[in-house]
Amino acid sequence: MNKPNFKDEMNRRKCKIEYKELNEEIKPALHNKKFFLRTYGCQMNVHDSEQIRYYLEALGMQEVDTLEDSDVVILNTCAVRENAKEKVFGFLGRAKHLKKNKPDLIICICGCLMQEPNEVDEIEKNHKYIDIVLGTHNINEIPNMILDRTLKQNIEVLSNSDVVYENVSYKRDSNITAWVNITYGCNNFCTYCIVPYTRGRERSRKKDCVLKEVQALKDAGYKEITLLGQNVNSYGRDFEDEKYYFANLLEDVAKIGIDRVRFVTSNPWNFTDELIDVIAKYDNVMPYIHLPIQSGSNSILKKMNRGYTVEEYKELFDKIKERVPGVSITTDIIVGFPNETDEDFEATMNIVDYCKYDGAYTFIYSKRVGTPAAKMDDSISQEVKEQRLYKLNELVNKYSLESNKRYVGKEVPVLLMGVSEKDPTKAYGYTDTMKLVNVENGINEIGNIVNVRIEEAKSFSLDGKMVK
Ligand code: SF4
Repeated sequence: MNKPNFKDEMNRRKCKIEYKELNEEIKPALHNKKFFLRTYGCQMNVHDSEQIRYYLEALGMQEVDTLEDSDVVILNTCAVRENAKEKVFGFLGRAKHLKKNKPDLIICICGCLMQEPNEVDEIEKNHKYIDIVLGTHNINEIPNMILDRTLKQNIEVLSNSDVVYENVSYKRDSNITAWVNITYGCNNFCTYCIVPYTRGRERSRKKDCVLKEVQALKDAGYKEITLLGQNVNSYGRDFEDEKYYFANLLEDVAKIGIDRVRFVTSNPWNFTDELIDVIAKYDNVMPYIHLPIQSGSNSILKKMNRGYTVEEYKELFDKIKERVPGVSITTDIIVGFPNETDEDFEATMNIVDYCKYDGAYTFIYSKRVGTPAAKMDDSISQEVKEQRLYKLNELVNKYSLESNKRYVGKEVPVLLMGVSEKDPTKAYGYTDTMKLVNVENGINEIGNIVNVRIEEAKSFSLDGKMVK
């Protein structure tokens, strides 16, 4: 396994995209063997696990819900926050214990955490019971690595990848909504973020392949697709021979006519007017945008290398609100970034007051080895960070409830996704603005878009009745 000096390797590489068609002939050599697949982290990992699930089932294996019933264990890991790592090593302890009684158990670990050389070192030195280690760039190697398993630990982590795989097969979690990758990697290098180091340089899929995949999903009866990338706004920036960007792709996807088109995630710095126009123009492009701000302080945004100021973000926010009627906007916010002052935090509270977000994912800054921010001095106590997160959540929840209350008494279209976990007599689904709704008498309509009269609002969900 080659373990390059990561930072130099990254800076030295100029990403020349290599497109590879995956035409996998996978023989069902492991009939009736059972697999247990656990996924940590973001939508990218959830979608990668749909690819892994396809491979294991193609090998003739069956998925089980309990570790103890499995013959192969796969952990698809996340590296975004420290606690993601703790969860993985906590779970590995159980797998290690099981292997004592089940020596043929195959333990495989992949995903973003394995793209960090120091984590792979840790596994090579202290976790010999793990059979297979691979990263985010070579998931398609999993079937062969399982079939070629020997007593020796097999580590295959590519430090980076210029490759874009097309024609990838998935065993999707849902037959109603589907993820569609459009880009891999990220070039933004926000100073706190490990993703550019774990997912590599930005690479866009070919537009024809994306459009073909969306058409196939529509023909298969899917009601909704979500275009997926670390920063979808950067789609096409790496094309050398064509000026075809995210706004163009979104328009062509919308024209295919699938009921609901969504996309995630957008970095505000390159959210164009053309993109806003396409969102406003097509009824099947959902009026929901996740627009991470991360901080309301310009000095913190600078230290984060986010590429925009609070003023520019507000201008974009206002433009979207003005040009996309009824649009719902959510965000991500980090508190406790190194040396965040009381004034910086107050500025974050002020931007939340200004935007009155429909919802927000809030986090305490988590130091990630290998990122520039990890080298920054940090004098703020954990106690202060927790107090700030508490105050922020109170404010965010207040606006989320206010936004939900505006739906009470209204009839809105809801795509019913499944049986509600909270109340199995109800179905759950989402409005076009991505509001979670628990729907009375909706069970028989799961998979359809139905009209629902909203009767009650809570901070994070709505309750309603299907209207005949
Ligand atoms: S845009 Fe920034 S936060 Fe998002 S994945 Fe890229 S580097 Fe990370």
